[in-house]
Amino acid sequence: MRISNRKRVMVTGGAGFLGSHLCERLINEGCDVLCVDNFYSGTKDNIAHLVSNPYFEMIRHDVTFPLYVEVDEIYNLACPASPIHYQRDPVQTTKTSVHGAINMLGLAKRVKAKILQASTSEVYGDPEIHPQTEDYWGHVNPIGIRACYDEGKRCAETLFFDYYRQHNVEIKVVRIFNTYGPRMHPNDGRVVSNFIVQALSGKDITIYGGGTQTRSFCYVDDLIDGFIKMMGSNEEVTGPINMGNPAEFTIKQLAEIIIEMSGSKSKLVFMPLPQDDPKQRQPDITYANQTLSWIPQVKLEQGLAKTIDYFRKFLLL
Ligand code: NAD
Ligand code: UDP
Ligand code: UDP
Repeated sequence: MRISNRKRVMVTGGAGFLGSHLCERLINEGCDVLCVDNFYSGTKDNIAHLVSNPYFEMIRHDVTFPLYVEVDEIYNLACPASPIHYQRDPVQTTKTSVHGAINMLGLAKRVKAKILQASTSEVYGDPEIHPQTEDYWGHVNPIGIRACYDEGKRCAETLFFDYYRQHNVEIKVVRIFNTYGPRMHPNDGRVVSNFIVQALSGKDITIYGGGTQTRSFCYVDDLIDGFIKMMGSNEEVTGPINMGNPAEFTIKQLAEIIIEMSGSKSKLVFMPLPQDDPKQRQPDITYANQTLSWIPQVKLEQGLAKTIDYFRKFLLL
C-alpha cells in the first residue's frame, strides 16, 4: 500500500531546457518528481534550484538502457533537440528516440502509467502544406542529416501508437513546434538563443540563407501549460496534437526584432543555408484549442523580453 498521495511523475530529459521548466511546474503543483537525464545536452545548472526540495529526485541514466522505477505518469523528453547537438552523434540520437521510447513504453506498460511523448514538428519535415495539421503525413528526407532526429521521432510515434493498440498503454503524443525561453543552451545553435547571444555581445547576427524561411515561436510557459493539460485529458485523447504559437515570422524579422529589443548594434550577415532546412513552419492548433482549450498567451515580444533578460544575466556570470 502507498503511504503518500503525491502523484509520482517521471520526466526524462528533465535537466534540459523544456524538462527543467516542466520539473519546476510539477514540483509547484505538489508532485513527487523523478528527473532522469544523462546530461548529453542538459545541465545540472538547469535544475540546481530544485535539488533541495525533498520531492525532487534526480538520476543520471541513459534511456536507451532499461529503467525499473514505480511512477504514475511519464513525460518522455529525453533527446537532444538542437541540430548541432543531435547531429554530433546521429546514431545515438536515433537510439535515444527509438530504444528510449521502447524502454519508457515498456515501463509504462508494466506499471500502468500514462506516458506523454515530446514529439516534434520535424515529423512534418519540409512541409508541402501550410499551416501543418495533425493529419499531414510529412515530407522528410530519410537519409539526410536531419533524419536521425526526424525519423527517430517518427518511429517513436509509431511505437507509441502500437503500444496503445497492442498493449492498451495510455499515451499522449505532442508535436512541439519551435519553443524558446530562459535556460535555452547558449551555444546549441538554435535561432532564438543564437541571435540573442550575438546581439547582446555585439557580434554579427548569422542569418542562414536569405532569412525568408519562417518559423513560429512559442514561449516555454505556454508549452508547459499545454503539456499539463494534455496529460490531464481524457483517456481517448491520444494525440498526435500540435503545440506551438501560430504567429509566424521570417528569420530576418526575428533578427530585426531581437536587435531592436536588446538595443544592439550588431549587423546581419548571411551564411549558407544548412541542408534540408525547412522553408516554412506554422502549427495549426485548432485541435489543441478544441480538445484542451489551449491557446498560447505570450506574444513574441513579451517572451523575448524575458529571454533577453535571462541571457543578459547569464552572460555576466
Ligand atoms: P534539450 O537538449 O535542452 O533537452 C533534452 C534533454 O534530454 C537533455 O537534458 C539531455 O541531456 C537529455 N538526454 C538526451 N539524450 C538522453 C538519453 N539518451 N538519456 C537520458 N537523457 C537524455 O532540448 P529541449 O529543447 O528541452 O527538448 C526536449 C524535448 O522536446 C526533446 O525530446 C525535443 O525533441 C522536444 N522538442 C523540443 C522543441 C523545442 O523547440 N525546444 C521542439 C520540438 C521538440
Ligand atoms: N523495460 C524497462 N522498464 C520496465 C519494463 C520494461 O526499461 O519497467 C524495458 C525492457 O527492458 C524492454 C522494454 O522496456 O526491453 C520493452 O518492454 P516490453 O515489456 O514491452 O517488451 P519485452 O520486455 O517483452 O521485450
Ligand atoms: N538559423 C539562422 N541562424 C542561426 C541559427 C538558425 O538563420 O544562427 C535558422 C535556421 O537555418 C532555421 C531557423 O533559423 O531556418 C530555425 O533554426 P533552429 O535550429 O532554431 O530550429 P529548426 O530549424 O529545428 O526549426
